[in-house]
Amino acid sequence: MLEAALTSFPKTLRTELEQVAVRGGKVHPDLVQHLCRVLNIDVDALMLRLVPLAAAYGVAPVSHFSVGAVARGQRLDSNGYAALYLGANMEFPGRALCFSLHAEQAAVANAWNNRESGITSLAVSAVPCGHCRQFLYELSESSPLRIVFPDGTRHGYRQTDIAELLPGAFGPADLGHEGNMMAVNIAADPPPLEIEQNASVDALVREALKAARFSYAPYTRNHAGCAVQLQNGRIFSGSYAENAAHNPGLSPLHAALSNMRMALGPASGPEDLQKVARCVLVEKAADISQRELVTTLISSFAPQIALEYYVAE
Ligand SMILES: [Zn+2]
Repeated sequence: MLEAALTSFPKTLRTELEQVAVRGGKVHPDLVQHLCRVLNIDVDALMLRLVPLAAAYGVAPVSHFSVGAVARGQRLDSNGYAALYLGANMEFPGRALCFSLHAEQAAVANAWNNRESGITSLAVSAVPCGHCRQFLYELSESSPLRIVFPDGTRHGYRQTDIAELLPGAFGPADLGHEGNMMAVNIAADPPPLEIEQNASVDALVREALKAARFSYAPYTRNHAGCAVQLQNGRIFSGSYAENAAHNPGLSPLHAALSNMRMALGPASGPEDLQKVARCVLVEKAADISQRELVTTLISSFAPQIALEYYVAE
């Protein structure tokens, strides 16, 4: 899939795009500018051209249908360009379909993991499903996210925004919150979570704790983060994201696995999940818990490992 996605670009650009593919699916602002100039297109059109490259990261052993999405970060460089973040769907055989991660969620998780405080637009091969519309609505009600999708012609596109795609939406404001789930990345002081002093804390646990501090849990305060370690020692983490409508949130393990898959590149597949040697969940005690979901998800691909669980206050 990667090769097919690359062949739609001129040969002179393929090496640089291949580098994007092996470096976490992030297109740096200077490369965005370069690609727009060489291809003579605007950023929206570039994002759509990159959607097939994002789809090459798809792990879809159930549907065999890879989906890609490309998010544009909020941070601008001195030339007015922002980084682009790729994301793809992820499915888990042996578990219910509601465990599936959608490409739009993966692209947001990638931008979030890169400490963006928001995304301004999202390119997809078709308008997002209802689940993703609700998930994306949590990003910010005050500056609705732009959605870019193909218009059916060769390189043409249309755009809309999430408010138009979700009229009469139920969102954070209905529960008395401002929303904007990625804003914690620019908060002066993220929640000061600490693990109890006597617990044995190593680098993996510290990484999960850090992810928990950057999580978004305005409705339950169940701040949570997961960190996984591969057999070769590499560590990846992800933060929990809640949603006003509850179900379309993002579990900390889904976020960690998605970030891992993006870092490993499009050649990564279900077999890489079996190389997970450790998994840590850190969460703040609340009326809800991530523990059962994380345990169930891990057991689907690495039944030999036991979840390492910590409560933080
Ligand atoms: Zn979706």
